[in-house]
Amino acid sequence: MPMLKIHYSLESDLKKDIVDIPAPDEINIRVSNLVLKTGKGKKIAKGELIAEHPSRFGGAYHAPVSGKVTKVNYHHITIKSDGTDNCVEPVDLSSLETGKELLRTLQGLGVDVAPLSSASRLLIINGLNPEPGISVTEQLLRVELKTIEAGLEMARRFIAPEQTVLAVSAGSPYRLDGAEIKQIKPKYPNSLDALVAKKVTGKEFPEETRIMSVVDLYRIGKIVLSGLPITDTTITVGDTNYHIPLGTPIRHLVEYLGLEVSSGDKVVLGGPFRGEAVYSLSEGVKKADHGLFVVKAGSFPAIEDATCINCGECVLNCPARIQANLISRYAEFEMFDHAVRHGLHSCLECGLCSFNCTARRPLLQYIRFAKTQLMNQGAGEQEQG
Ligand code: SF4
Ligand code: SF4
Repeated sequence: MPMLKIHYSLESDLKKDIVDIPAPDEINIRVSNLVLKTGKGKKIAKGELIAEHPSRFGGAYHAPVSGKVTKVNYHHITIKSDGTDNCVEPVDLSSLETGKELLRTLQGLGVDVAPLSSASRLLIINGLNPEPGISVTEQLLRVELKTIEAGLEMARRFIAPEQTVLAVSAGSPYRLDGAEIKQIKPKYPNSLDALVAKKVTGKEFPEETRIMSVVDLYRIGKIVLSGLPITDTTITVGDTNYHIPLGTPIRHLVEYLGLEVSSGDKVVLGGPFRGEAVYSLSEGVKKADHGLFVVKAGSFPAIEDATCINCGECVLNCPARIQANLISRYAEFEMFDHAVRHGLHSCLECGLCSFNCTARRPLLQYIRFAKTQLMNQGAGEQEQG
């Protein structure tokens, strides 16, 4: 079988509209590290709160379908759909002034409110597709402009920026009301927030700068216009983008879309550089998932727990200019304080080190492991400074 070629281009050739995938009979929501707000046997309406993240700006999670909670464990909640449109009442946001109450209401509806929590001089909107093969950002800019602009208006009420810049792929026609345009070469990893901010401001750590994605604004806009929480995500599969209820099992998607998955193939959620293979087709899609790929067995050299041969390829390819080989080794042996001292928190999680590793070591996975462990210990933020 020929080796799969991964290209770096972020351009998209959009010809189709977004397709809605209907909710399946059963939904699986991942709830690890969340505080549960429902229990087994409970009947719930679509949009009802089922879990919250315990952190200050943590998100809220809502039932994507009306039905009954049939299973609850540490990792997942399973909801069996009753097939009805039974939905919570919309929240009237128009009567709320800009301030804490509105912010809390948005948070309760599932908005990531951290970017809205204080004012900033410059607001940058990242309008580049996140990874090669994922066209969600440009698709939303193409067909959901009104919703994105409603989200931008709400974001501006909190951030009160003097200047708003929309960063787009060079040559693309996308615009947003009241935003200046910065064209950026559509080549991965230029879509990463930190690199977009540098291209716009010319600085590595610009002060008074907030960066939000088009997807963030689209979600805020949807909530503003409907008064209802977010219960779906938008995912690219092949040349089409789909609105998919959160928690839809991958197996349902594979069958619905007629994808061929044979023994040994890997189904990857996310893009070719940062995505992760799903461990079970029962796993449900999450808010942060924007791409689904089937990697055929033998078409790509497998990642393995091999020994580093000190070739330096990972360091040469790292846009954060850190020693991925060293940091990942510290992470592998759970020497997290050493990993932090060598720049763990400067890692942009672009995946270029793993992708270019001669020994095919799982560098990004080790780095994410270290970050997650530190976050769970509540030490991630403190050790950054
Ligand atoms: S994922 Fe690897 S290449 Fe990318 S910033 Fe982090 S260490 Fe560097
Ligand atoms: S690319 Fe892989 S083998 Fe080479 S130095 Fe980095 S971790 Fe080691």
